[in-house]
Amino acid sequence: EVRVRFAPSPTGTPHVGLIRTALFNWGWARHTGGKMIFRVEDTDAKRDSEESYLQLLDAMQWMGIDWDEGVEVSGPHEPYRQSKRGEIYQDVIQKLKDGGYIYPSYTTAEETEARHAAAGRDQKLGYDGYDRNLTDEQIAAFEAEGRKPVWRLRMPDHDLAFTDTVRGTITFSAGSVADFVVVRADGSPLYTLVNPVDDALMGITHVLRGEDLLSSTPRQIALYRALYAVGVADFQPTFGHLPYVMGEGNKKLSKRDPQSSVFHHRDNGFIREGLLNYLALLGWSLSADEDIFTPEEFVENFDIHNVLANPARFDEKKAIAINGTHIRRLDAEDFRNRLIPYLQDRDLVGEELTDREAEILTQAAPLVQERVHLLGEAADMLAFLFTETIEVEPAAMKGMPQNLVEVLAAAENVLSDLESWELESIEAALRTALIDELELKPRHAFGPVRTAVSGRKVSPPLFESLVIMGPEKALERIANFKA
Ligand code: GLU
Repeated sequence: EVRVRFAPSPTGTPHVGLIRTALFNWGWARHTGGKMIFRVEDTDAKRDSEESYLQLLDAMQWMGIDWDEGVEVSGPHEPYRQSKRGEIYQDVIQKLKDGGYIYPSYTTAEETEARHAAAGRDQKLGYDGYDRNLTDEQIAAFEAEGRKPVWRLRMPDHDLAFTDTVRGTITFSAGSVADFVVVRADGSPLYTLVNPVDDALMGITHVLRGEDLLSSTPRQIALYRALYAVGVADFQPTFGHLPYVMGEGNKKLSKRDPQSSVFHHRDNGFIREGLLNYLALLGWSLSADEDIFTPEEFVENFDIHNVLANPARFDEKKAIAINGTHIRRLDAEDFRNRLIPYLQDRDLVGEELTDREAEILTQAAPLVQERVHLLGEAADMLAFLFTETIEVEPAAMKGMPQNLVEVLAAAENVLSDLESWELESIEAALRTALIDELELKPRHAFGPVRTAVSGRKVSPPLFESLVIMGPEKALERIANFKA
């Protein structure tokens, strides 16, 4: 059975690259009928925050990336937050000590540098393995000085090779990775230890994670072998390193770039289907000629063996276009309901919609569904239907006819005489008054009315908008604009 995990550290806001990692793990679990595990790697109290943890949950839930075991849902390998797994790690550390896979290291970084210098080597070479073979007398002497050792893993003295599902065979030559610290002088384990220990204990079969972690893989494989030898691991997982997500100028999409945050896109009005589709394209594709797919189609077709190693560029324009396609595919009621939070954010409606607001929304949502790429854009387009007054945007003043006041007066006149406020009668009245009688081109005829009632250059269709807003508001706005 495939068992994959999402193992974020709760720092900062959820990055699109991180959520792409979650998505690919989830896709592989769901595609294979395996299990998705959500473990939180909160071992760095200085950087981790509860707020970031809650944001991760929020991002996952919003995207519809669910998990079978882990935080919030529990499972057979409780607890799923590393900050609560201290005893488990101590037990593993003891086994590694007993087996001689880790050894106490007393010498300091300065002493290592001095040894390199004395031997004419580059001082920055890193740890040289000096403490590997300390005698009992040397150890006793260090202890007598009051030194507390860190513990290092004994790296094997042969090459380490593995087959990366994304990148193919990768070999780290013997001696290229120094014996590294797994336990601090105070006895606490380092991240380098607990990450593979948890993967082993949780039976993870595939480690799919960002390319930035590739350099830690030889250490983890060496650790895995030690864990296997002491009976903690049953097998070594398959590794796959997902390509970087790039931003402007061929640089990694920085955390400081607003586009890097999943919430930035949600706030703009991405729907989960759209963002999921786009994030899936960062390293994978369904086929050469089809960019658009549903979450279900993603799951059905996703295969980690088809992930590309090339860095993937985050192209917000393309993402927005894809989102627009998904918006058009929503059924009308679903689209209407997804607009509500965006209207609330703009204070256009309250916590609970009034009957009138609900009715306006039901009538107006279909007018914009085909025209927008983002829910935020739709809310902006519909705002004038919910507000008491409007502000006219400068762009909406462009191309007004010379006889603006005359046009508005004619419109006001016919509209106030209407017996029934319906689409056909409104349209017929305005056409007769403005096009037939004033002999205006449609743009000059209806542009002023549009600007008067909506304040916007681009609005939902005019006649439908007039119907929805009702005669009082429409006439009042035309009168105000004329004045
Ligand atoms: N906790 C690590 C991170 O957030 C992930 C480690 C992994 O996936 O192996 O970068």
